[in-house]
Amino acid sequence: MTAQAETHRFQAETSELLDLMIHSLYSHKEIFLRELISNASDAIDKRRVAALSDEALRDNDWEPQIRLERDPEGRKLIIEDNGIGMSRQELVDNIGTIARSGTRAFLEQLRASKTATKKGKGKSEDVATESAPELIGQFGVGFYSAFMVAHEVELETRRLGETEATRWSSKGDGEFSVESFDKESVGTRITLLLRDADPESEHADFTDEYALRTIVKKYSDFVEHPVQMEVERTETKEGDEEPTTVTELQTLNSRKPLWVRPRNEIEQSDYDEFYSHLTHDWNKPLRTIHFRAEGTHEYTALLYLPTQRNAEILDPSKQASRLSLYVKKVFVMAECEELLPGWLRFVRGLVDSSDLPLNVSRETLQHNRQIAQIRKRLVKKLLDTFGEMLKKERETYAEFWTAFGSVLKEGLYIDDAHRAELAKVCLWQTSKGAEPCTLAEYVDRMEPDQEAIWYVTGADRHSVEKSPHLEAVSGKGHEVLFLVDPVDEWVVQRLNEFEGKPLRSLEQGDAAAETDEQKSEREEQEKELEGLLGAAQASLDDYVSKVRLSSRLKESPAVLVGAEGGLSPQLEAMLRASGQQVPANKRVLELNPSHPVVSRLKELHAADADSPRFHQFLELVHGQALLAEGSQLSDPSRFAKLVGELLAPGEGSPG
Ligand code: ADP
Repeated sequence: MTAQAETHRFQAETSELLDLMIHSLYSHKEIFLRELISNASDAIDKRRVAALSDEALRDNDWEPQIRLERDPEGRKLIIEDNGIGMSRQELVDNIGTIARSGTRAFLEQLRASKTATKKGKGKSEDVATESAPELIGQFGVGFYSAFMVAHEVELETRRLGETEATRWSSKGDGEFSVESFDKESVGTRITLLLRDADPESEHADFTDEYALRTIVKKYSDFVEHPVQMEVERTETKEGDEEPTTVTELQTLNSRKPLWVRPRNEIEQSDYDEFYSHLTHDWNKPLRTIHFRAEGTHEYTALLYLPTQRNAEILDPSKQASRLSLYVKKVFVMAECEELLPGWLRFVRGLVDSSDLPLNVSRETLQHNRQIAQIRKRLVKKLLDTFGEMLKKERETYAEFWTAFGSVLKEGLYIDDAHRAELAKVCLWQTSKGAEPCTLAEYVDRMEPDQEAIWYVTGADRHSVEKSPHLEAVSGKGHEVLFLVDPVDEWVVQRLNEFEGKPLRSLEQGDAAAETDEQKSEREEQEKELEGLLGAAQASLDDYVSKVRLSSRLKESPAVLVGAEGGLSPQLEAMLRASGQQVPANKRVLELNPSHPVVSRLKELHAADADSPRFHQFLELVHGQALLAEGSQLSDPSRFAKLVGELLAPGEGSPG
């Protein structure tokens, strides 16, 4: 039975990625084998798990196996597994497209890094591609790495439980073809038509027995399932004069799971290799945490902190933990979300429990007390690790924070149980210097008269640095946290204090308490300007709840202040952008009585309180206050028109 072959085009991103792989990666091409063996090993795990839950899929004679076959004359290398295989649809979905939502962002990053390097002085394009392996590795492109060494790849596969098999083939040039055919056994067989071995190149000939052995040993030694290859051996039998050559199937890997070996026998390079096997990330991990828990529940945990953030981290459909669960060295499930909270989803690795049953399901895990205890311990261990890095390796920690801080801070919002501990290891930008600081450091530096930890929120450091809200405390030398990460808006909804000091927004309420003297002066002026303030409030009634004078402003003419505990304008904008109904949130407009703009308002009001000029001028003052704090105007074109009229005064203009 052979159905007609269909030709498909790769998704545009896949093509581009393939092109980059083939043309940018010059070193370590041998890692394609690690990637294919990892996929084969995953497929075997999946078959075992599937057979566990469905008797019809069970085969008592099945012995997991990954086979390498080499053909030096034909320049072929074959990697075959008897894992779960793929259906035709799965094949097209998995291997024709890259289903990760971060693909586009990743490619943009890659292109940007190329352009940036190209622009650099005297750098050639070759240098520009140097960062590609790192970035590609971080993205993890598994199967596609075959095209680094092969000019054509053929993949034949039959899915467990299905009779039809599918053959996929591609030259990596933008197209692939798929056809149905008959395959005797379940599993996947990948044939690489290798590029010519270049005697000048540092790369091994991938049909060479010794080379293949070495590569498997180096990158895949700990893979749990046997990686086998036929090897030739000479032996001299008893009675024979001449030695004869015999071929035999040999297992190339020692198959000893890394995490069960004693720590002092493991080199960091072993951990690093295992990390790549597990994650497809080709960068070295930043930290490796390996420990064994003994007592009522026994388990081993091997956790890794990556160096770089992966595009998937921000994928809203992938918010759960990425740890794998093993039971007595046997793989049970990937991405076991019960093992870690989502705010630690960048942590990779595994937990191997000695006590759980092999047939645990996601449902039973949800209520499993043992898993809950493991999770608690892992979170503590990770928080301790962060604390230690913060104390002893500040620079490394700051880099780690740049990569994963915004994910960790989700915990401040979501996780009541860990909020206080987590807050201790968070870093923040502040008005004092470019180096981020911890809240403890902030509290240490607080002025004696300072009653709160002040913050302003905004889109970026540049805009908050200029915010008029800072004027409330700048004269007193108080430090202000700049909360410029979108997640910070959520964080401050829940993180209300640190070590007894309240966190308060300068945009809200009476942030900067005035002295009695300031208060009576302000009240006196307000009495004097009662008419103006009343008229202004009536004019701006759609936008603000009140217009009053301010003693907090030094340089700006006006500022908008929200109610204590109210939504910040940024959060309001975010909620609206995400389609949520947000009740109208009117703020107070505070005017600076000693600013010339306010003097001008007084004149206009005195001349004719009903004139369009007065009202347009007020609109401009309100719009200016919005722009100054980095908020959006509701009607920018009207604002621009009023400004234009102000710059070129004519009949009826606000000037
Ligand atoms: P990754 O392994 O990082 O997900 P790959 O491009 O290597 O990315 O593989 C994509 C998908 O194709 C895998 O997630 C898996 O579902 C499927 N796949 C790859 N190789 C095999 C194989 N040998 N057997 C079964 N499925 C496979």
